[in-house]
Amino acid sequence: MNRIIIIRVCEIFLKGKNRFYFLNLLETHIDKALSGIKHKITKLQMRYIVEDFAEEDYELIISKLLKISGIHTLSPAYCVESNVDEISNCAIKMCDGKKGTFKVETNRADKRFPMHSVELSTEVGGRILAKYFNDLKVDVKKPQFIVNIDMRENGKTLIYSDTIKGIGGMPIGSSGKGFLMLSGGIDSPVAGYMMCKRGMRLSAVHFHSYPYTGEAAKEKVIELAKIVSEYSCGMTLYIVKFTEIQEAIHEKCAEDLMITMMRRFMMRITERLANQNGGQAIITGESLGQVASQTMESITSSNSVVTMPVFRPLIAFDKLDTISIAQKINTYETSILPYEDCCTVFLPKYPAIKPKMERILKEESKLNVEELIEYALNNTEIIEV
Ligand code: ATP
Ligand code: MG
Repeated sequence: MNRIIIIRVCEIFLKGKNRFYFLNLLETHIDKALSGIKHKITKLQMRYIVEDFAEEDYELIISKLLKISGIHTLSPAYCVESNVDEISNCAIKMCDGKKGTFKVETNRADKRFPMHSVELSTEVGGRILAKYFNDLKVDVKKPQFIVNIDMRENGKTLIYSDTIKGIGGMPIGSSGKGFLMLSGGIDSPVAGYMMCKRGMRLSAVHFHSYPYTGEAAKEKVIELAKIVSEYSCGMTLYIVKFTEIQEAIHEKCAEDLMITMMRRFMMRITERLANQNGGQAIITGESLGQVASQTMESITSSNSVVTMPVFRPLIAFDKLDTISIAQKINTYETSILPYEDCCTVFLPKYPAIKPKMERILKEESKLNVEELIEYALNNTEIIEV
């Protein structure tokens, strides 16, 4: 009786002619994620089977697979020889500790096997009941769990009961490359994850204001980038020195427009970095109306300085929805570490909530925008995380 893992892929994108492209991409990611762990992968119609791994690597393999977009569900399973005793013993073991109602369902690809699928289900179900008559009952209409018997043509049978939900979505690399504006907050790492889920490869851009923001704040962002990069199959992080831009805005422009101006610079710089490095979209963690810088007027103002598409996957999310995803993907605890962000430096007392474009342009004309951008780009640190 060998422990195996069944991987199922999202079916929607498998319907078209491109399915082999998607499947090959997904297989590359599975291979990469499991590199260094002894295992074997075989394709079984639209599923993959992971086998030949050491028992102690089981949890590690599951945790790696749960970070791969394009995987719909996983089933921890066993593979046994196709004979009634082996199948029944395995099914009995699988039901150990379970309570409630169940049924056995058999799929028999091996037509040489002497029993029909219903016969086999009945036999195995009977043996399970004989063993656990105090705890289990059969219910063929609405069982609480199903013991699945999948008899293959090669003389082997797969047996499984539980399914674990994967990320879903599309394999990384099937939807281009986006540049995530990554702050140290809760939202932007989640926004990055959401785009990974749709198959987008990521790079990240972080703006920091050394010495106003310290080393710990930067380390925090690197840590967040590392966590998000597990979903993106690696990631390049650009750390842009934003200090001089902030100082210039602070010195020359109206105080209430500080954040508005900063956002416009961030967008421009991110677009330049994306253009220079194969990026096709900008991603932010903005959510409509959450703060002054995320009103319709503020978003219009920051959006108007770029031509690249800007994706805001959290635009309609409530904060609590975002937090629950942040907890699930493991970024929350890092995000709430109390280090300052460049946006808290020179924070205006009363930020403009509905900044007027005319006024923004007038204030911005006091700055040498191009020179400031050039300087920031020349002072960008690049880290492969
Ligand atoms: P987050 O939790 O992602 O920081 P937030 O709710 O604090 O978001 P803002 O501070 O208004 O919202 O930032 C909005 C978006 O602008 C962020 O989600 C992020 O994409 C981008 N952003 C803000 N600050 C930075 C920064 N220092 N570096 C890179 N991007 C940033
Ligand atoms: Mg923030």
